[in-house]
Amino acid sequence: MSDRDKPLKPETAVVHLGREPAKHLGAVNTPVYRASTIVFPTLDDLEASAAGTHPGIGYGLHGLPTVTDLQSAVAELEGGARGFAVPSGLAATTLPLLALTKAGDRVLITDSVYGPTRRFAMNTLQRYGVEIAFYDPLAGAAIEQAMTPNTRVVFVESPGSLSFDVQDVPAIAAVAHRHGAVVVMDNSWATPLGFRSFDHGVDVSVHAATKYIGGHSDVLLGLIVCNDATTAPMHRIWTDMGVAVSTDDAFLGLRGLRTLATRLARHQASAMRVASWLRSRPEVREVLYPALPGARGHELWKRDFRLATGLFTIVLHPGPTRERLAAMLDRMRLFRMGWSWGGFESLIIPTDPDKLRTASRFDAGGPCLRLHIGLEDPDDLIADLDDGFQRLNGRS
Ligand SMILES: *Cc1c(COP(=O)(O)O)cnc(C)c1O
Repeated sequence: MSDRDKPLKPETAVVHLGREPAKHLGAVNTPVYRASTIVFPTLDDLEASAAGTHPGIGYGLHGLPTVTDLQSAVAELEGGARGFAVPSGLAATTLPLLALTKAGDRVLITDSVYGPTRRFAMNTLQRYGVEIAFYDPLAGAAIEQAMTPNTRVVFVESPGSLSFDVQDVPAIAAVAHRHGAVVVMDNSWATPLGFRSFDHGVDVSVHAATKYIGGHSDVLLGLIVCNDATTAPMHRIWTDMGVAVSTDDAFLGLRGLRTLATRLARHQASAMRVASWLRSRPEVREVLYPALPGARGHELWKRDFRLATGLFTIVLHPGPTRERLAAMLDRMRLFRMGWSWGGFESLIIPTDPDKLRTASRFDAGGPCLRLHIGLEDPDDLIADLDDGFQRLNGRS
């Protein structure tokens, strides 16, 4: 193998994948193509398109280069066979469940799953005759006990986006595969740079690209990456349901990808600083950030992950009244309250990680705040939190 053929490091790949300037007047970035109708010069061409033997695309719903470049970039980056772009992260977590199941099948879902994914399974998938069961996120190989002959999909999300349980994905995948089930993973927290899903037994890796891949809190976007075996059923449902993303949004996804490695390095470094400082605070009972030595899930994180990102939860000692909590949160200078995460800005939000669980218990031991550490200077973020704790303690 010459040096030119050596695989590129993922941090280099994000800069170069899905770009072919020669196809677009030399433009460095794939431009936004706006098209619905595609016209054919001859009847032969029209008929070839209908038969699927024409080399070009037949209609603007699927196949515009802005979208296909994003899909191929993410699939190649993660080591999957095929990528599918969808209009939101939620569409990315739900469509594979539709694609891979039929009435009578059973789906096992981690109890720490993103709430709206749980809602879809209970409200919709169940209505079509699919059995839903939740399992303890920390089950690991013990998930064996939850397997049944009709279990088709095991859904993992690691770490969970509220309680940050790190799952033993390789152990879960080994059991699932032995029982003929496939593993779908919500990999939004780590991104393809932080967790190489396909190296750990995952069959379908999904991303809320709204978060770190978009990275600027200005686009809703989902990505689904399939291995060879799951590509055909996923392609079927994606085509049949007419799911397509706007090329403007795909463009923003590609643009975000270019700086993903740089941004994540900063998110991780600042999150480590802020999390370490928080751990030394008397108000804080526990920091749920798996990258922190000694934190829950740290050993598994160290074994399986390439990097950490900027989202974690802190558990406060019990006691603060709602009034004191409001005094803290309402007057933060930099941290803002808002759903979502993964943008350049810092966020803080009260959460209740055990509220949604039905099959396992998570006892945080106190009120929880979820923090997203943005790209600001970490000293300024620490000062903001320090002032916030003064207000929490009733000292200002
Ligand atoms: C936000 C989020 C989603 C959904 O993404 P949207 O683009 O907001 O629909 C899915 N999974 C996780 C873990 C998330 O945090």
